[in-house]
Amino acid sequence: MPAAESHLLPVYSPPEQTFVRGEGCWIWDDKGERYLDCIAGIAVDALGHAPPVLVKALTEQANKLWHTSNMFKIKGQEELAAKYCAHSFADVVFFTNSGTEAIECALKTVRKYHSANGNPERVDIIGFQGSFHGRSYAAINASGNPNYLEGFGPRLPAFAQAPFGDIEAVKNLVGPTTAGIIVEPVQGEGGVRAAPDGFLRALRKLADENGLLLIFDEVQSGAGRTGKLWAHEWEGVAPDVMAVAKGVGGGFPMGAMLATREAAKGMVKGVHGTTFGGNPLAMAVGNACFDELSKPQFLERVRAASNRLGQALEGLKDRHPDLVAETRGKGLLRGLKLKIDPKGIQAKLRDRKVLVGVAGDNVLRLAPPLIIEDAQLSQAIDAIDAVLAEQMAEAGA
Ligand SMILES: *Cc1c(COP(=O)(O)O)cnc(C)c1O
Repeated sequence: MPAAESHLLPVYSPPEQTFVRGEGCWIWDDKGERYLDCIAGIAVDALGHAPPVLVKALTEQANKLWHTSNMFKIKGQEELAAKYCAHSFADVVFFTNSGTEAIECALKTVRKYHSANGNPERVDIIGFQGSFHGRSYAAINASGNPNYLEGFGPRLPAFAQAPFGDIEAVKNLVGPTTAGIIVEPVQGEGGVRAAPDGFLRALRKLADENGLLLIFDEVQSGAGRTGKLWAHEWEGVAPDVMAVAKGVGGGFPMGAMLATREAAKGMVKGVHGTTFGGNPLAMAVGNACFDELSKPQFLERVRAASNRLGQALEGLKDRHPDLVAETRGKGLLRGLKLKIDPKGIQAKLRDRKVLVGVAGDNVLRLAPPLIIEDAQLSQAIDAIDAVLAEQMAEAGA
């Protein structure tokens, strides 16, 4: 009998497994098979699956109060915003439900800044080829990826993209109506590409020289993913505005826009809002998650694991030069650029009970929980090694 037709909008094509339970880096399907999760809900489950500290925070809050909306004060927001600001460049925070909404708020904040300064004509946003900022109209126009724009009507005006890493191309796009620049310190979806050394610093300088605001999209690269709380800390340079999400909620849907008080000067009473953003459940989890992420020992462990993973991936490249073109990324956000479509490799890894992701540009993507242990990293690397060897054998046969 044919399977009943799904009532879900068919914008995804997931594999057959249905996952029902997780613990740490392990996740079980409905047949009781255990998998090693090296993608963590796309860099979201930073503390692994069902971490006791988050379960406790969520259930305690669930027994007290779920939702009041932002028409009333929410204590957890004040607490978490104070923590974010104590651990970043920012002075003010707006909580959202997702990365896309944090990006929307960031873009609106940048335009409103110029408008508040008496320069409402400064609206142009410079982004980068290969970037990803979410799926709203503003986000797809900021990234300029034709695959996401096609068929959705005319492109929005006032967005342009430069090649990632090309400071001269950015300079050529700057003009009197430029408002700001939006960049991922490590491009995630577009192919797991870390910004070249010095690039973020050069963007900072260009922004300062031209009165532009600089937005860092740290939705994927933030929350300890690269071994620093925020990936831009590696460059010793700060943005004016930052979008975060994914890992900051450890699996609970939440995000935030962070900004300096100056950059956010136009965002006054009534100009922006959200029903769900920053609700008590999200804030309970967000606070508990941030308390873990911001522990120095926690990030030290992430850096140690990152170094091991980076070296192991170099080893895979050396052993399989016919399949692996290069290693990419930073911290525990890593990729192997393959010379073939990575989806087949991803499926073979799933058969071996290891879950990985893919990204643009033929990249096999790894973004495990930040708590991953050495033995688990070794298991993942051994599985990738075996699958690449198998692929070569098949190709040779
Ligand atoms: C995932 C992602 C987004 C969008 O976040 P959603 O929570 O899916 O809306 C934006 N920017 C980057 C860099 C991302 O990786």
